[in-house]
Amino acid sequence: MPRPVTFAPMAKTKRSNDEVKQEVLDTAKELLRSGLVEGTAGNISGRLPDGNVVMTPSSLSYEVMQLEDLVVLDLDGNVVEGERSPTSEKALHLACMRAHDDIHGVIHSHAIFATMFAVTHQPIPCVIEEFDIYVGGEVPVAGYQLTGSDSLGDEVARWVGDRGAVLMANHGLLTVGTSATNAMKVAQLVERTAKIIWGARILGDLVPLPDSTLERFAPIYKLLRSS
Ligand SMILES: [Zn+2]
Repeated sequence: MPRPVTFAPMAKTKRSNDEVKQEVLDTAKELLRSGLVEGTAGNISGRLPDGNVVMTPSSLSYEVMQLEDLVVLDLDGNVVEGERSPTSEKALHLACMRAHDDIHGVIHSHAIFATMFAVTHQPIPCVIEEFDIYVGGEVPVAGYQLTGSDSLGDEVARWVGDRGAVLMANHGLLTVGTSATNAMKVAQLVERTAKIIWGARILGDLVPLPDSTLERFAPIYKLLRSS
């Protein structure tokens, strides 16, 4: 009998609104450094302890973005704080957070390798152990809806109840997590895995993970997500 795999859930610490705002800004800068966003493309949000959502603004380069540029909205989309307009993709963030109480961070990006799968409407298969643990299974392709529309938000939110990422058909990637930092780690893992799968298919056929491994890991993503 293999020993049970144990994963320490992330400690849940109560954070202030200011700390979550700083985390969203830091995440935006880190995503820029790691090449997952560029220019003004992509957007990041975090759920504040008071129930509102802080997100990156529209049409502002990540390089110059400051804390005061972030915008706070309630879950219905009303701006409650900030001078700038929120990202034009605000519906994505709000729909995911309205639909799932355990989502506290959302990232949308046009990461190159993940978007290669999105434009060919191909899910990113789950053939790597850590992918199963931290993403929760293959990354599905949500149906096409026009960018910026409420219907795109609703469509995407349908897919992230039990996994950390979804591809947006003919558009890009959306990841969710217990924080903006967590959603960024999922985005980095998905993009790295998309690159691996793309290259692996040139080498030969993908070999699935054993069913016993999938069964063993199945509860872990849920546990991490709820922690
Ligand atoms: Zn986009």
